[in-house]
Amino acid sequence: MSNYKKLTLRRGKEQSLDRFHPWVFSGALTSVPEGIEEGDLVAVHASDGRLIGVGHYQIGSIAVRMLDFSDRTIDRAFFDERLANALALRKALNLARPDNDAFRLVHGEGDFLPGLIIDIYGNTAVMQAHSPGMHFARNIIAMVLTELQGINIANVYYKSETTLPYKAQLDPQNDYLIGGFDSNTATENGLRFHIDWLKGQKTGFFVDQRDNRQLLQHFARGRKVLNMFCYTGGFSVYALRGGAEEVVSVDSSAKAIALTQANANLNFPDDSRHSAVAEDAFKYLDNMEPGRFDLIVLDPPAFAKHQSALRNALRGYQRLNAKAFEKIAPGGVLFTFSCSQAVSKEQFRLAVFSAAASTGRRVRILRQLTQPADHPINIYHPEGEYLKGLILYVE
Ligand code: SAH
Repeated sequence: MSNYKKLTLRRGKEQSLDRFHPWVFSGALTSVPEGIEEGDLVAVHASDGRLIGVGHYQIGSIAVRMLDFSDRTIDRAFFDERLANALALRKALNLARPDNDAFRLVHGEGDFLPGLIIDIYGNTAVMQAHSPGMHFARNIIAMVLTELQGINIANVYYKSETTLPYKAQLDPQNDYLIGGFDSNTATENGLRFHIDWLKGQKTGFFVDQRDNRQLLQHFARGRKVLNMFCYTGGFSVYALRGGAEEVVSVDSSAKAIALTQANANLNFPDDSRHSAVAEDAFKYLDNMEPGRFDLIVLDPPAFAKHQSALRNALRGYQRLNAKAFEKIAPGGVLFTFSCSQAVSKEQFRLAVFSAAASTGRRVRILRQLTQPADHPINIYHPEGEYLKGLILYVE
């Protein structure tokens, strides 16, 4: 039995929670009693007094992230169980192998741990807290990680300087909670990557494109590949393995280009098929001669981080894809993605449709892509489906 401070919902506001949606919006609550602070564990009750569950409280539009729909105590045993479950799923997916030691161990709501992200790179875990409650639990979680059975985690790097709500003034330091810097190469499907969790974006690598990179490999033979927004060069390295005739990687960040070069060299030393260019994607596509590439990847950063930016984001996706449709060689294949949570599958598809229509090319959808199984979607939290993509055949 927990003994957490009590929050009460307004009448009629329990419906989504009774369907196990893990968020309580601030407008659904009656007044928050004095003494409840950000990051506190709270017990959420319906207006008739019935207990619904327990969660982490925070100030903001999402007021509570539910951890359990019972009166459970959130202690070390809770994290032991949730993390062991998370690992059991990755093991069942056969993602923890000698030739694949980069994967997502905890995907927030998708692993019933809202506010927490953990990626594994070899024997290092990189942890990001998105809620004050998870920030306060960080040391317990780090301990649990190093004691998980069936995996050897020696180092836990905590990286939440940019993910925690700024207003909470928690002033988190990016640092090792356990261990320290070790090897920073990890292996994905037999390919090796330098991963810069200290300075890189997010946790240092986008493990969420693993399956889609593998798919690209199968389309790459004999093709001229343009990997736009390449970051660590993931798609480029798979294209080289797939037998591409030529691969050009483009990113506006010089650091990303250096990382891509290093990763290409790590797997295919001195391979003259690959080159990398630091340039703005839109500029590069504008200056590119038509027909230059017959396999193009567009994997831009999230254009819409919030609902308010949705319209501009959709226009951005349309503009970007239109440029690719204008320039891709006949018989070309386009891999195009959106990782904006605020953009739905239908909206993204409509933006790509409009882009295709504006160029008049004949375009067919070969496959529809999403995030891999180590980024599971809690069925009660459809918002967790954030990555969408299309493979298109362009005549
Ligand atoms: N495809 C990558 C992930 C892409 S992340 C992978 O598989 O890992 C998005 C990348 O887009 C970042 O590296 C960022 O530097 C780059 N970027 C952002 N805006 C850009 C622009 N206007 N032109 C080119 N690259 C850009």
